[in-house]
Formats: sequence, C-alpha cells, structure tokens
Amino acid sequence: MKKLAILGSTGSIGTQCLDIIRENREKYSVSALTCGSNTDLLEQQIKEFCPEIAVTESEEDALNLSKKYKDTEFFWGKKGLIEAASSECHMVMNALVGMRGLEPTYHAIKAGKDIALANKETLVAGGQIIMQAVNDNGVRMLPVDSEHSAIFQCLEGNRGRNIRKILLTASGGPFRGYTADKLEMVTLKQALKHPNWSMGKKITIDSATMMNKGLEVIEARWLFDVDADHIEILVHPQSILHSAVEFEDGSVIGQMGVPDMRIPISFAMAYPKRQKSSEPGPDFFGKASCLTFEKPDPEVFRCIKIAYEAIKAGGTYPAVMNAANEVLVGLFLDGRIRFTQISSTIEKILDVHKAEYNIELEDILEADKRARTETFRLVDL
Ligand code: NAD
Ligand code: MG
Repeated sequence: MKKLAILGSTGSIGTQCLDIIRENREKYSVSALTCGSNTDLLEQQIKEFCPEIAVTESEEDALNLSKKYKDTEFFWGKKGLIEAASSECHMVMNALVGMRGLEPTYHAIKAGKDIALANKETLVAGGQIIMQAVNDNGVRMLPVDSEHSAIFQCLEGNRGRNIRKILLTASGGPFRGYTADKLEMVTLKQALKHPNWSMGKKITIDSATMMNKGLEVIEARWLFDVDADHIEILVHPQSILHSAVEFEDGSVIGQMGVPDMRIPISFAMAYPKRQKSSEPGPDFFGKASCLTFEKPDPEVFRCIKIAYEAIKAGGTYPAVMNAANEVLVGLFLDGRIRFTQISSTIEKILDVHKAEYNIELEDILEADKRARTETFRLVDL
C-alpha cells in the first residue's frame, strides 16, 4: 500500500487524485488531506478516506472539525501544511495553488518523501533550491503537469542522451489568434472559458494570458536541467500531443493522449508502474482529423516573453514575477483590473527589481513578500 499526503485535496487536481484512489483502494491509503476554506468538501473527504491529519486555512475551521472527527488530528495555516507534508507517508501530492506550495514541498523533500508535483509555482519561485534538495535527499520528483509528465515519459530510457530541445505544447487558451488590441477588450467571463481543460481559476487565467506556459518553461528548466533557450513553445490547439523531446540525432519523441489530467496524475502516483484506466484513448486515429502546430506570438502574449526574460536573468527574478502574477490574477478575478494589466504590471515590477543571487529559501520568501506589496502599490486601487 502506498500512503499519500494530498495537499490541496479539495481542488481540481486534488479531487481527481482522490478519484484515482477511490478506483484503486487496494493500492493506496491517505495520511493527510488539506484545504483552504472549502471545509464542506474536506469533511466529506475525511469521512471517506479517514486521514490521520487534516489541515484547514483557518484555526477556527480546524478547531470546529476537531470536535467532530476524533480519529483525525487537525492543524491549520502554513504550519499545518508543513505538518501534512512531513506526515508519515510515501508520497506527497502537492496540488496546492500558488507560492504557498513552496515551503511544504521543501519540508516534504527534507523529510525524505517522494513528491508528485502539480504546484508549478514551487519550481518557478524556488527551482534551484528545490532540485538541490531533491538531489541531496535522494527523493523522486514526479511531475503532474501534463506537459512535464509527457517530457518525463519521453525521457524514460533516454537519460543521459543529449537533448537538442524540448517542445512544450500549449493549447493557446481562449484568446488564441487575438491581436494585442483585441486582448485589451476581453472580459473575465471570456478568460475563464478554457477550450480544452477544466481547472482551478488561477491556472485558467494563467492559461488565458499564457503565463501558464511561461511558468511551465521555468518548471521544465528545473525539472529536466535544460536551458530556457532549448525550450520551445508550440501552440497545439487539440491538446493531444502533450509535449515532445528532440534529441541530438534529430529524433523527436512525444507523448499523446486525451486531455485528461487523471492520466498524468495517475502516472505520477503509480510510477514506475502504469495504472489501468477505464477511459478510452484518443479516437482520432484513422479518422479525417488533424493535429496542428503554430508558434505563439510573445509580443501579444507578453507573459511568455516576460517568463523567458525572468528565468534567463535568474536569481530572485522568477519568484518576483510569480508573486506579481499571483496578486494580479487575484485582482483580475475580483474584477478590479483589466486583463492586459496583468502583463503590463509584471513588466513594471521586474524593471525595477534588484535581484539577489546566491539565494536561500528565506531570500525567496522575502522577495515574494516584497513583490506582492510592490504590486499592490503599483496598481494603486
Ligand atoms: P484549485 O484552485 O482547484 O485547488 C487549489 C487547492 O489549494 C484547493 O484544495 C484549495 O482549497 C487549496 N488552497 C487554496 N488557497 C489556500 C490557502 N490559502 N491555504 C491552504 N490551501 C489553499 O487549483 P488546481 O487547478 O487544482 O491547481 C493546483 C496546482 O496544480 C496549481 O499550481 C496549478 O497550476 C497546477 N496544475 C493544475 C492543473 C489542472 O488541470 N487543474 C493542470 C496542471 C497543473
Ligand atoms: Mg500544463
């Protein structure tokens, strides 16, 4: 039996991870479940999966639940997430959204746990420190993001072979093909309508701005130790090829499947095995359908350009970019700024940032905090 701690168990990835556990009860048990404010769903999950530890964002929620569920120990806030991440288990599934995922990931690695990582912000903000900790502690870091799961699978049996480039696919989001002028007019409702994937709100907006792909370039840079110059974004609206790797001999290996996050989640959970799925694979083979590929326009989707610049500049730049993006996406979701203010404000923040290099975890947390304050100051609502 594999024991899992699931951070962010009430979210899009977290609930799909629990779906897989539900279908494979003989293979998995749950040590910890955590949520933000969605305590109703957490309660249902506690009843069904009987974790030893459960965590809520607020102290009040944790204390209320602890009166009802005597077999589960309750914690709250950041300390609670770290407690869950270090709980007695084989693997930590980090399905938290945002920078709050960084510290629990770090502590889980230090506690010797394998990580299934959906929380890409962990690697964007702290990639160098996290991958160093992975190496030092001899744990596995298994990507859950579909593109990175694809790349990981393409590299199976090819470790040590020279990579010419990584082809990171992108659906292009709801505004694919838009001009910069047209992007000025888009609404929140339009931005929340992703063509292929149903996901949490933050990543849905990141997909619309294409910052999601920028974050993923940085995620790939750290996971696979490949320079950003060797990572190319390819817009592929059908979301069937989940990414590919070109090797030095010109051979390209890709991974395909229907756009269903349960495939990469299940792959990370079961690795090195594969788990049987009841869902059919893609049905386009033999039909008159096609897969198309085009280049994104980084002048229109400026977040792509910003992310490449941030990772090339290094140090605290990616953490600052990520922090500003999180604040701005939140403001956009609250209807307080326009869509294009997300990229234009991040650009301003990065322009004035004085980076630190040679960074420790504390420096990243500090840079993140300052960037958030600075972002609020700049938008001046
Ligand atoms: P989501 O918003 O659906 O879920 C986020 C989880 O974090 C929820 O359990 C929520 O309760 C919890 N949370 C939110 N605020 C919190 C707080 N203040 N304290 C503690 N917990 C809090 O997000 P998601 O779509 O599942 O995405 C999770 C991560 O996976 C993100 O980093 C995202 O980029 C990545 N990802 C998601 C998908 C997808 O299909 N949803 C695909 C690839 C990568
Ligand atoms: Mg992805």
